[in-house]
Amino acid sequence: AGALRGVTRSFGDTIVLRDLDLTVPRGDIVALLGRSGSGKSTALRILAGLDRDLDGGSVHIDGAPAVVFQDSRLLPWRTVAENVRHGLNRVGVGRGEKSARVTGILAEVGLEGREGAYPGELSGGQAQRTSLARALVAEPALLLLDEPFGALDALTRRTMHRLLLRLWAHHGFGVLLVTHDVDEAVALADRVLVLDDGVVGHTETIDRPRGGGETSHHRRRLLDAL
Ligand code: ATP
Ligand code: MG
Repeated sequence: AGALRGVTRSFGDTIVLRDLDLTVPRGDIVALLGRSGSGKSTALRILAGLDRDLDGGSVHIDGAPAVVFQDSRLLPWRTVAENVRHGLNRVGVGRGEKSARVTGILAEVGLEGREGAYPGELSGGQAQRTSLARALVAEPALLLLDEPFGALDALTRRTMHRLLLRLWAHHGFGVLLVTHDVDEAVALADRVLVLDDGVVGHTETIDRPRGGGETSHHRRRLLDAL
């Protein structure tokens, strides 16, 4: 669904990404781990098309990717339904079809009945559900998540993990999940990449299904690589 090929990106004298190759196949969840400042968000922003100022390399994407950040970035003076509808702004479908899609995705993320609420009236989890709905309403092939659950409590985070996996299984988009939570990466991803000194220093492949399977060796190897 998306790839970086040989991407180099520097800020001033600091080289953040060095000839980086990163592929997110359609239907896979790829987690990107790495220490603070290792360049995870930089790589995601380049994939998202939010940073086009490369020193080298190229970006390959199927269609328009959708992004969810740690802060939901909802328009505070718009309702939940209006915010989600914004995700269809550049999609050429009719008004009736747009309304149907908004209703459908809001039900999928568990927000039916909250369509008319304003962002200030939502819990953190509900705000991220809204943000996910806005991202997915246009049916992207690639979903880019930058620490999307980082501000949530542990219980809500687990609920959101299950929601993301349900949406992913239903729609089949590829996911790049930027996180610094090793457990989150191991719980969700098919592949975990550790970004170190501008390159992928370690790759951990994790087989599905996960249910009851032993994952502590993955966790240990990733902690060693960090
Ligand atoms: P964190 O886990 O803290 O979110 P990160 O891995 O996402 O970290 P990035 O935000 O990608 O890290 O930043 C990588 C490096 O690039 C940092 O040293 C940062 O200061 C630098 N950097 C990122 N964006 C800019 C910018 N617009 N201008 C200058 N330097 C930048
Ligand atoms: Mg970051």
